[in-house]
Order: sequence, then structure tokens, then C-alpha cells
Amino acid sequence: MMLNAFELKDKVAMVTGCNTGLGQGMALGLAQAGCDIVGVNMSEPTETRQAVEALGRRFLTVKADLSSTGVIPPVIEQAVAAFGRIDILVNNAGIIRREDALSFTEQDWDDVMNVNIKTVFFLSQAVAHQFIKQGNGGKIINIASMLSFQGGIRVPSYTASKSAVMGVTRLLANEWAKHNINVNAIAPGYMATNNTQQLRDDEDRSKAILDRIPAGRWGVPEDMMGPVVFLASAASDYVNGYTLAVDGGWLAR
Ligand code: NAP
Repeated sequence: MMLNAFELKDKVAMVTGCNTGLGQGMALGLAQAGCDIVGVNMSEPTETRQAVEALGRRFLTVKADLSSTGVIPPVIEQAVAAFGRIDILVNNAGIIRREDALSFTEQDWDDVMNVNIKTVFFLSQAVAHQFIKQGNGGKIINIASMLSFQGGIRVPSYTASKSAVMGVTRLLANEWAKHNINVNAIAPGYMATNNTQQLRDDEDRSKAILDRIPAGRWGVPEDMMGPVVFLASAASDYVNGYTLAVDGGWLAR
């Protein structure tokens, strides 16, 4: 019976940036738990769509460049027009720019902040309005980072944005708990995706990182499935404003 609390049958989950990497892993985990998926992407996420549909769940593609907030109203409209409601939002889409702080450009600052925090806030706001209209709450899961807890190196706007994600997750939980909306975050550790390709290509950095991970391996998108289903489901109804590290023990070190 306890496992019924994790059941997500016929819930509608919106996942941004689900064509690859962690977003793809989370979309598939949510679909395995019973969700229909609204994938918000810049391009058609063919592989994810096929995998979700193979699980017998519906998949809606909404095309949007999340570097500006103007796309948000049509994103919500398309999701609601197709599936009637939204129950879960996973703010996964994110970018990173690597450069010494002494040479870091304003462009690299703004580009990262726009996708990683500005749109995360305003998409959450729009989805919260939809949750309130629907009348029975909802779940928002933001994707933070180890750099919500630590400083990092050569990624100033990424660190600023992901530290902000953890702070805003707490703020939104405080304000929206009264509407039965849970806002939590997952802070992935070092995961093998496009985001970390440069790090994994750098032998010295790659070894230094691996040496510090108690699990002894880089994370993979499948590692996100259990945590996202937990935070999307009734099993976590009394968990709010928290950032859950999924890091193979990195922060414990
Ligand atoms: P990824 O493979 O680079 O995936 C990033 C996703 O975001 C892609 O689907 C990408 O779409 C999408 N995206 C980027 N800019 C977008 C925009 N303007 N509009 C719409 N979609 C956009 O990296 P990932 O590792 O899976 O990253 C997923 C999330 O986890 C990010 O928030 C990242 O910061 C976070 N994270 C990753 C790690 C890690 O070790 N990998 C650690 C901590 C946190 P395209 O493929 O079309 O560009």
C-alpha cells in the first residue's frame, strides 16, 4: 500500500529540456510511474517521445526557447489545450558557460541567468497560477547543482544561477504551501551528460572529480528517476522547500 503513494497514473508532468541528459531520464522515470509528458524543448525530442509512447503514455511536444519569458504563455496554453491540466513541473533546462572570472563576459552572464533562473521563476509562476485555477495543488521540482552549495571554478553565472535556484525554491515553498503546492529541488552531482562533456574530456579535472565521489562513478540520467518520482508524488507531500542532493555522496565528503 505504501507504494501507492508514489503512483502518478494519469498525472501530467511538464519537463523542460527533455530531449537528452537528465531531463530525458526524468521524463522517462515520470512516464514509468504513470505520467503523460509535456516536453518543452527547442527541437523535437524524438527519442524521448518514442520512449514515452512505448510505455503507453502520451507525449506532447511544445517548442520553446526558454532564454526569454515571452514563450511562457503559449507553453501553458498548449499544454492545457492538449492534456487539460498540469500536475507537475520539472524545471530542468539549463546551460553553462566556462571562463575565468577575470575574463567572463556580460553576455555569458545574461545568457545563463536567463535560462537557469529567470525563466525558471516565471515558468513556475505561470504554472502555479494554473495549479491554483485547477484547485488541488501541484508539484514543482527545480534542478539545482552542487554549485548551489559550493563555489565551483570558472562558472560564475552558473554558480550564481544555481545558488539562486536553491534560494527561490525555498521562497516559493514558503509562499505557495498554502495552495498545496510543493516546491523542491534536486541537486545532481557530477553526471555524465552534454553539460559535463568538457570536464570529462579534461583528464586532470575528470580524475580529480571522480576521486572525490564516494560512489566511485559519475552519475547517469537514470539516477534521477527515483528522486523525481518521489518529489512529484504524494509520498513527499510534507517535503517542501528542500534541495535533495543526488550526488553519489559528493557533499558528504
Ligand atoms: P544537457 O544534456 O546539456 O541538457 C540541457 C537541456 O536543457 C537540453 O535539453 C537543452 O536543449 C535544454 N536547454 C538549454 N537551453 C535551452 C533553451 N534556451 N530553451 C529550451 N531548452 C533549453 O545537460 P544536463 O546535464 O542534462 O542538464 C540538465 C539540468 O541539470 C541543467 O539544469 C543542468 O544545469 C543541471 N545539472 C547538470 C549536472 C551534470 O553534471 N550534468 C549537474 C548539476 C546540474 P538542447 O539539447 O536542445 O540544447
